[in-house]
Amino acid sequence: MRTCDHCEADLSNEDHRWELVEEWQICIQRENDCPEVEISIAYGIGEYCSEEHAMDVIDSYLSERNAEPTWADVDPVETCACCGEDFSTAERHLTLTMMELCGPEEAQNIYDAFYVARFCRTCEPPEGRDLFSENDSTPVEIIKPKWVGKEHPA
Ligand SMILES: [Zn+2]
Ligand SMILES: [Zn+2]
Repeated sequence: MRTCDHCEADLSNEDHRWELVEEWQICIQRENDCPEVEISIAYGIGEYCSEEHAMDVIDSYLSERNAEPTWADVDPVETCACCGEDFSTAERHLTLTMMELCGPEEAQNIYDAFYVARFCRTCEPPEGRDLFSENDSTPVEIIKPKWVGKEHPA
């Protein structure tokens, strides 16, 4: 049975679920087109019954790292959630993504997604670098996010 990683509520009959994922991303700017995101590694943190419970986990994730949510976009330069410095998103960097998923597990869709925080290389946790050095640079996935330029209501 799939349960909320925060309150253990049964998720098997829920139509909407929230998921938190650590992604190592490169943002690719396209002329006359939406930017794309190349995801090299994606590590699922957990899935949750509500946005509220995902937000609770986001709060503790960020406070452990002395970081603040930036609700980032896919711009060429973004602000690090930890040190507050601007950095180039053309470099591979850690992004915390919150996704709202809908539909059955076998055929789930991303209903909505937000980049909660982006971290510059200096502030990336050391385990991220270890994780990365074991892998080649073949991207897992390249996506054209439909939520570019959208602000989180929070
Ligand atoms: Zn819950
Ligand atoms: Zn930083």
